[in-house]
Amino acid sequence: MSTTLQKSLLNWFHQHARDLPWRRTRDPYAIWLAEVILQQTRIDQGLPYFERFIAAFPTVHDLAAAPHASVMKLWEGLGYYSRARNLHRAAKALVNEHGGRFPESAAALKKLPGVGDYTAGAVASIAFGQREPVVDGNVKRVLARLYAIEESIDLAPVTRRLWGIAREIVPGDAPGDFNQALMELGARVCAPRSPSCQQCPVRRRCRAHQQGKQDLLPVRNAKKAAPHQQRIVAVITRRGRYLIGQRPPSGLLGGLWEFPNAEIQPGEAHQAALERTAQDAVGLVVTPGPLVAVVNHAYTHLRVTLHVYRCAVQQGAPEPREHTELKWVFPSQTGRYAFPRAHHKFLSRLA
Ligand code: SF4
Repeated sequence: MSTTLQKSLLNWFHQHARDLPWRRTRDPYAIWLAEVILQQTRIDQGLPYFERFIAAFPTVHDLAAAPHASVMKLWEGLGYYSRARNLHRAAKALVNEHGGRFPESAAALKKLPGVGDYTAGAVASIAFGQREPVVDGNVKRVLARLYAIEESIDLAPVTRRLWGIAREIVPGDAPGDFNQALMELGARVCAPRSPSCQQCPVRRRCRAHQQGKQDLLPVRNAKKAAPHQQRIVAVITRRGRYLIGQRPPSGLLGGLWEFPNAEIQPGEAHQAALERTAQDAVGLVVTPGPLVAVVNHAYTHLRVTLHVYRCAVQQGAPEPREHTELKWVFPSQTGRYAFPRAHHKFLSRLA
């Protein structure tokens, strides 16, 4: 496509871009932080996290020197915790291997932990003015419509094609603004449902709009229904304190703290599940107590219902079998630890 597309999009962006803190700076650290926080996260949800992070760790040196528990605590509730772990590892790598300076090329940025094509392209183009594309979910949708791509955008070859298009159309001048404009257009005008084509600055260049197919594109693979797990949660209590464990650093919810919990087996009574969970997870024989709460939570790939019970230690000393560490904490101390969002749904009911 011609420069008309680029000009129209850039003009629109300069007039309509939301005023966001990471758009007022060329500081690669702030831009990188924002891009990592905003992956899989809406701007209104990510903005307070960005503000808290930049206030707590104003430079990459501050982030690298921070205790890991503080980084995880600040990230608490944002989900996809591997991002926080990689953020911290990348900050350390930047300080230890690059003297705290960000490399400017996308290729060098991609060598940092957790930095893939998207983040590398965003930092290289926005902070350093490099002619690099970015393709996120919004950009995929916009490009699939602009170019009337009729195959599923979830297929790897189609994704590669979209990256190729993005690379072709990103201009040498203001590549960062152009990339942000494409993302902003996807977020605010070219919405997943009922795109606002009448307000769109590039409607004259849009093949889907010309063909009246904007509501049919992009094509997506049919989604499988997320499985639904019933889980038992054991709030093991001793002399007014609860037993919590830290999950291993990698994997789902890695590094977060939790109460011992496990999936309930088909046909298993809750009391039996509670006794099994305490035994398997922390090596304790417990006396089941009352039900505290039943909470539902949805992850992207899984839905869970947590059946939360108090129980008392009958026999044994706790040993970490599924966790890296166990702690007895008073209710007033739970705020010091980062818990998964599903646990926050019942924590207040324990007091
Ligand atoms: S014209 Fe409509 S479908 Fe095409 S890019 Fe603009 S908002 Fe999206």
